[in-house]
Amino acid sequence: MARKYEGHAVGIDLGTTYSCVAVWQEQHCRVEIIHNDQGNKTTPSYVAFTQNQRLIGDAAKNQAATNPTNTVFDAKRLIGRNYSDPIVKNDILMWPFKVTAGADDKPMIVVTYKDQEKHFSAEEISSMVLTKMRQIAEAYLEAPVRNAVITVPAYFNGSQRKATIDAGVIAGLNVMRIISEPTAAAIAYGLDKRSDCAEERNVFIFDLGGGTFDVSLLTIKGKVFKVKATAGNTHLGGEDFDNRLVSYFVKEFERKNKVDISGNARALRRLRTACEKAKRTLSFAVTACVEIDALFKGIDFSSSITRARFEELNMDFFRECLETVGRCISDSNMDISSVHDVVLVGGSSRIPKVQELLQEFFKGKELCKSINPDEAVAYGAAVKAALLNGGTESTAPNLVLQDVTPLSLGKAIRGDVMSIVIPRNTTIPVKKSATFYTLYDNQSSVLEEIYEGERTRASDNNLLGRYTLRGIPAAPKGHPVSICFDLDANGILCVTSEEKTTGNKSHITITNDKGKFSQEEIERLIGEAERYKVEDEKFLEKANAINALDDYVYDMEKALIGSKICAEDKKKLKSAIDKVRTLLDDGNKEKKGIDVFVEHLNEAKLIFEPIIAKTG
Ligand code: AMP
Repeated sequence: MARKYEGHAVGIDLGTTYSCVAVWQEQHCRVEIIHNDQGNKTTPSYVAFTQNQRLIGDAAKNQAATNPTNTVFDAKRLIGRNYSDPIVKNDILMWPFKVTAGADDKPMIVVTYKDQEKHFSAEEISSMVLTKMRQIAEAYLEAPVRNAVITVPAYFNGSQRKATIDAGVIAGLNVMRIISEPTAAAIAYGLDKRSDCAEERNVFIFDLGGGTFDVSLLTIKGKVFKVKATAGNTHLGGEDFDNRLVSYFVKEFERKNKVDISGNARALRRLRTACEKAKRTLSFAVTACVEIDALFKGIDFSSSITRARFEELNMDFFRECLETVGRCISDSNMDISSVHDVVLVGGSSRIPKVQELLQEFFKGKELCKSINPDEAVAYGAAVKAALLNGGTESTAPNLVLQDVTPLSLGKAIRGDVMSIVIPRNTTIPVKKSATFYTLYDNQSSVLEEIYEGERTRASDNNLLGRYTLRGIPAAPKGHPVSICFDLDANGILCVTSEEKTTGNKSHITITNDKGKFSQEEIERLIGEAERYKVEDEKFLEKANAINALDDYVYDMEKALIGSKICAEDKKKLKSAIDKVRTLLDDGNKEKKGIDVFVEHLNEAKLIFEPIIAKTG
């Protein structure tokens, strides 16, 4: 088999704070995590602009303190989102650099570069980071690199995935595939434990990084990986633990020296760096020292902290992590005891208390720590890249990877009912078709409204987009129109409606994030759906009763037009139809109880059935 792509293919973990690039070394049959020019295996996802140059990675992060307004990081939090998104608004408050609203509500990062004001999109900033990662790989491989697999969080929506592909394209990369971070970590894990995967294994991925927390439940059977469920918090991680330590020491400094350093950015920054170091130390020692010369107004600071105190300061965060784990497990309809492996990913998963609580949760199960938590995602992406690069000579293990859709996808049907075409947690890529029917005679067009969510009432869900299929030929009510939902491997949705006899088609590709949900929103929505389940069931029951009555009256009207019925029956039928129509046309009918519609249907049946029997 010929290679599908020319040259090397790398895996890139494009992280919120750090990125990592890896390559499958065919001759050595292993993945190489590539060091950058500073000798580090991870590179800060930072881009800085100065009077005379642009800096990326370590060089950008190292000068952040002296050039805060022109040092950009966290672009991953902005990518594929709108400026008006409340999450974006919140994040902006935390950043030292400026973000404004650009065309189409796109957030634009404003910096001064070579004495000129410049506006960059998150894709452009991410493309600069990706360019750096490409250069790191090229320097190591001593050859041009074009092909890459890039990872994104499992909850990234179509818009965020598309924007990440765009960033890759801007960086001159051929993005062969976007894969989810937990899936990538699972590949790395699968490589290590391949022989154990002959039977179906349920693997729980616990990924606690610097700024984000993600958990996923995957099923591995033979070579197939499936993501069963995901959960997480986009604002929980090592930086929060650092912040708790910073506040603790600010108070201590104040108590000891009667001065408050909380308004001094430089002192806080130095304290934060020392705290992060102490936190890391506490993962293998029971106490850690914090010593900073001339922290504020020439006063030296010297203190220490125990692991127990660190744990106490962050216990609420740790508990929150465990609650999320519980939610993910129950979401996947799995019992704790059916989880075979628990895999640790992300630097903060090294914290002993986190490991202890997790192990306790999984009833004492040994945790898998064999994969370096900072490198597992890039590792898996590199394997996937090698697989996509193809070629019989490839020694990369032949794994098949599948992601899932985090929310159900469907369309609104009569009575504002959500009709699901692709259920939540369906493995992607997926293509599903369904047939719907026109609602009235000679209906020439149909307005398709595409939603994502778990609520029964369509308008309680998230409207992704709408379009109209026109040119339906004249036909009685009930003429079929097919609809196809095509969700690609990158999570981008294309919906097409078709009237088969004419071949008329209309479609929509959902890549803008108008209304697309974030992780928090997904979680909120799922919780909401559970809370409203009873209410939703009642709504559906009533909608079904209204629709049944509507269908019945339609049949009655059809029969009335027919000539087989005698005059007297026609009169009876007409009055029964009028009664039902009065109810159905009542603008306040939604407020009426279901029994009203059931009674009307039963009454109508009592009149119509004997008439039909006569015409038999
Ligand atoms: P990641 O995003 O996976 O690179 O994780 C980075 C985060 O992990 C940072 O907040 C680090 O402070 C944290 N981290 C790295 N090593 C350790 C460690 N040994 N103990 C606790 N936290 C750590």
